[in-house]
Amino acid sequence: MSMQNPVFIPGPTNIPDELRREIDFGTIDHRSSVFNEMFQPALAGVKRILKTTTAEALIFPSTGTGAWEAAITNTLSPGDKVLIGRWGMFSHRWIDMCQRHGLKVIIVEAKWGKGVPLDAYAAALYGDRDQDIKAVMVTHNETATGVKSDIAAVRELLTKAKHPAMLLVDGVSSIASMDFRMDEWGVDIAITGSQKGFMLPPGLAILGVSPKALAAMETAKLPRTFFDFRDMLNTNAAGGFPYTPPVQLIRGLNHAIGMLENEGLENVFARHHRLAQGVREAVSAWGLKLCANSPDLYSDTVSAVVVPAKFDGTKFVTHAAEKYGVAFGVGLGEVAGKVFRIGHLGMLTDVMVCSGLSAAEMTMRDLKFPIAAGSGVAAAQEYFRKNEAEKLSPLKDAA
Ligand SMILES: *Cc1c(COP(=O)(O)O)cnc(C)c1O
Repeated sequence: MSMQNPVFIPGPTNIPDELRREIDFGTIDHRSSVFNEMFQPALAGVKRILKTTTAEALIFPSTGTGAWEAAITNTLSPGDKVLIGRWGMFSHRWIDMCQRHGLKVIIVEAKWGKGVPLDAYAAALYGDRDQDIKAVMVTHNETATGVKSDIAAVRELLTKAKHPAMLLVDGVSSIASMDFRMDEWGVDIAITGSQKGFMLPPGLAILGVSPKALAAMETAKLPRTFFDFRDMLNTNAAGGFPYTPPVQLIRGLNHAIGMLENEGLENVFARHHRLAQGVREAVSAWGLKLCANSPDLYSDTVSAVVVPAKFDGTKFVTHAAEKYGVAFGVGLGEVAGKVFRIGHLGMLTDVMVCSGLSAAEMTMRDLKFPIAAGSGVAAAQEYFRKNEAEKLSPLKDAA
């Protein structure tokens, strides 16, 4: 018999059965109105999820990384100054991409485990007398360390400094799982992909692009072809796509947005918070610490758990996969070996999270981590018992 446990990696996430059925769909003529009838609602739905009424939604066949590239190549020119912080592997990779595109990258370093260093961003913005910095970039939820950053506070900095730079935000592991407000936070480009909060297979780069970013596009000189916003917007307006669209994924996206809205976006956020809190109770009962330095930084979609000295987080992940068939995330970059990550986003219930914590406990016991058997699971159980959610899961909705 073929059986599979839920995954506890922070993306790709578990795909709900109803979404798998939805994307099992035969070929259609993508130049026909049938395609546009599924595409237009998907674009409108993305705007609702991003909480924007002013931005354009753009969808490319790609992943989050492609959305990073689309964001910078459409709005910036070679030699443009950008301000970006590094506090984990994902912010690091975006920096690397900016450098490889010939941008002048002002890098602000923060400890891995901290979020956006507002003081350092402020210093860079106030120090930029000629206001040469064209874009300020922030990773909303650093998936490598399980740290969320305060995007509203970054917008406030820009406003106070009267700095005209665009605000580009990587929301790949937060959007559709954690609070995200594109218009209210003044985000100029919001970036995500299909395989995290949207619960789909990988394959879509999803962006929200503000009028200001669209204006920047008019003079931006970095080369772009496949990811050209203008080609995409022009063909979309005519009901089409500049090349063959990933029809099945777009159909799935439409359905995924319906599932999220059926649960209620605020309920989705509350569920992620509750699941995350259950995991955090377990981590604390194990006597372990999170990589995230303080509660205000705790991510509701992923927890990076610091392993005790002399233990190896990567071995933990290998053992859990080989012995129990459960996938956790390894530590990346600076925290490789020092943490393992529990992804708790997408289609997950309390009970699924308890199963993941149980597998983590068995793994740690096998590897002789100094933890008490059952301690973490018990802590999470007590938390979930006392904090029942109104809507536990998509399954409950269907029943
Ligand atoms: C997953 C992730 C990415 C990369 O997305 P891909 O879809 O793997 O290209 C970028 N940023 C963050 C914060 C992520 O979690």
